[in-house]
Amino acid sequence: MTASMAASHSVGKIAKDVIFGASAACKEAVAKYGSEKVTNATIGAIMDDEGKLACIPVVEKVLRTLPINDLISYAPISGVPEYLDMTTELTFGDHRPDGYTAAVATAGGTGGIHHTIWNYTEVGDSVLTSDWFWGTYNMLCREVGRKLVTYPLFDEKQNFNITAFAQKVDELIAKQDSLLIIINTPAHNPTGYSLSDDDWTNVLDVCQKHAKTPGKKITIMVDIAYIDFAGEKNATRKFMEKFSNLPANILTVFTFSMSKGYTVYGQRCGSMIGLSSSKEVITEFADINKYTSRATWSNINHGAMALLVAINKDKTLQKEFESQRDALYQITRKRGAIFMDEAKTCGLNALPYKAGFFLSIPAKDSAAVCNKMHDDLIFGVPLKAGVRIAVCSVPTGKMNGMAQKVLNALNAV
Ligand code: PLP
Repeated sequence: MTASMAASHSVGKIAKDVIFGASAACKEAVAKYGSEKVTNATIGAIMDDEGKLACIPVVEKVLRTLPINDLISYAPISGVPEYLDMTTELTFGDHRPDGYTAAVATAGGTGGIHHTIWNYTEVGDSVLTSDWFWGTYNMLCREVGRKLVTYPLFDEKQNFNITAFAQKVDELIAKQDSLLIIINTPAHNPTGYSLSDDDWTNVLDVCQKHAKTPGKKITIMVDIAYIDFAGEKNATRKFMEKFSNLPANILTVFTFSMSKGYTVYGQRCGSMIGLSSSKEVITEFADINKYTSRATWSNINHGAMALLVAINKDKTLQKEFESQRDALYQITRKRGAIFMDEAKTCGLNALPYKAGFFLSIPAKDSAAVCNKMHDDLIFGVPLKAGVRIAVCSVPTGKMNGMAQKVLNALNAV
């Protein structure tokens, strides 16, 4: 008998990190063949064209010159007020929806997802997301006694599968009074898909239909972790206007993250922004999420909040920062375009990538396909339904020819 000291709900918890496994195999190959021969498409962070972790230069400059007190002192539990105002403004750009809002600082985007699951669903509830999803959603749900269920993201024409979405919402709302729907857009991880304005209209129609039933509560969590690598600032935020004047039993939560947008992944700083037509719902949002913060991590990285404030309160610096970030976006865009163009030419069925850090190729036995790709020293991540390629981490030159090699691996297994 193996010994266990864990409480019954914690027995058997093991974080299966496929990404770590894939990147370990890649490191071995680098040691054997040299980094120039190896393509590492496993990392969820932007590597420059020399293969080094990219940092936006203004971020480094400001971070290194922040007053020591901003770095070491406690921050308010809810977050620095100026930071909260700025993250709200940055989230909406020119497309702020009508309604009441409040923001609470969180440990990256992950922290906001955690709070949303905990505070807006009942123990035992199912949480809905698409079948291609960031694996951490599942862990976040299970950790607090919720279950993640999915609908197929795409229909047979590779359009957003609104029919499947509607069916799943119908089914869940018949069984439970609170429903949390998680949608990661624009630039979805792992497919790179972005919901179109029409997709959003359809999603909101489904939610509004169910919100008419008394006693039902629907929370739509929009995970915008990759929004700053999805296109022009205001174009990518236009859909947000659609959340104006929804009924009081639909709450929208946007989870903002500095990880990608500021290239400060390890600084663990984000913000959750609640939007509702009801003032009471928003007061409650600020109160209960602050409480959960106090009871989870206390307060958030003060230096990272100060960094965001310092960059954005100086309009010249903000402009410089945005143009440097845009340069990184252009790099990811170019890498994605090379792969997708070549995929089209060689007949590889990649999912409809619009933008962002990742693209995916459906595969029945993704682990076998990834292993086969190792013959060409290409390392991707095997997901349940396919192979994820991190375009963010592959130097542009190495993107050439990759689609054909992935196709060869697919055909070989
Ligand atoms: N959402 C998605 C889909 C992600 O892929 C990530 C990071 O990988 C996050 C949210 C949040 O990351 P962080 O907690 O570092 O902000």
